[in-house]
Amino acid sequence: MRPELSIVVPVYNEEEVIEITHQRLVAVLSQMELASEIIYVNDGSQDRSAEIIRPWCLEDGKVKLISFSRNFGHQAAITCGMDKAAGKAIVIIDADLQDPPELIPEMVAKWREGYEVVYGKRKTRAGETRFKKITASVYYRLLRKLSDVEIPTDVGDFRLIDSKVRAALLQLPEHNRYVRGLISWLGYRQTFVEYERDARAAGETKYPLRKMLKLAGDGVTSFSYKPLKISIYLGVLFLVANFLFIIYAVIAKIFNLLRMDAGFVVVICLMLFSFGAVLIMLGVIGEYIGRIFEEAKNRPLYLIQREDGIFFKEGRCGTCPGLTEAEDA
Ligand code: UDP
Ligand code: MG
Repeated sequence: MRPELSIVVPVYNEEEVIEITHQRLVAVLSQMELASEIIYVNDGSQDRSAEIIRPWCLEDGKVKLISFSRNFGHQAAITCGMDKAAGKAIVIIDADLQDPPELIPEMVAKWREGYEVVYGKRKTRAGETRFKKITASVYYRLLRKLSDVEIPTDVGDFRLIDSKVRAALLQLPEHNRYVRGLISWLGYRQTFVEYERDARAAGETKYPLRKMLKLAGDGVTSFSYKPLKISIYLGVLFLVANFLFIIYAVIAKIFNLLRMDAGFVVVICLMLFSFGAVLIMLGVIGEYIGRIFEEAKNRPLYLIQREDGIFFKEGRCGTCPGLTEAEDA
């Protein structure tokens, strides 16, 4: 039977929490009177996560597992889960219980009222370092200023989307995906439910600073051209400064005020400044060119090594011919 509700859970080295997460998800779903499926996307875990999940697929027809051929990242994992989800509504939820599964019925209720996107808005974030809280808060506000799309603040990927939104997302081919931004860009009727973000139930964060910076960079560059425009403002500023400096130098020369070594220092300063500015802007341009290159290659977003359980949808990448191996199953 085609499920009404799909739950997508990205999993990367979550052996310590995945069992509790599963219990809580199943408990919540059993209270709701609708057909559901749970799609775990194993994003190339090196631990026992997949081995723990796999038996559930046999015991319970609504549990499915997709395993990537390697770690493709959180955003690729949730994209794949959404591609494969067959439900009329799809919920994306982290595997570490930071997003409470108990909020799902509330999200579904809002969806039944007619909203197509219901995102979870964090009132508080427990158990996260002060550094993460501050950087996250500054980042979301900055992104809001920079981007032309209304991206809500304090919102992660924990959300419910309607299958219409899923279909629309499938039409967006970009690779450096910032899914929450893309969903905002799509529009549709959006609302939110508030929640207290718990600490991770067990294990540690799978988002080291490196991955966080990548995500933050994708967010800014996919939704704003403003960093490119900075070069124009900077350029104008430098031209004006140069012009003023020339006038000053000429006047000083006429009235014989110029002491050579002072001028020399100023010239060096200006040179250093302009070199700095040029280098920064080259960096920004490089960022965008890097992303253009990434899109131009047009590689698949993820590769599936193995699937367990019965799926209803083929999805974007589908079972890429020659790439999926149905090993022993
Ligand atoms: N995750 C993933 N691939 C990755 C990193 C993380 O699928 O490369 C999953 C992870 O298993 C979890 C979710 O993404 O379900 C959020 O990661 P995490 O809780 O570590 O991030 P944080 O909450 O610390 O920002
Ligand atoms: Mg987490």
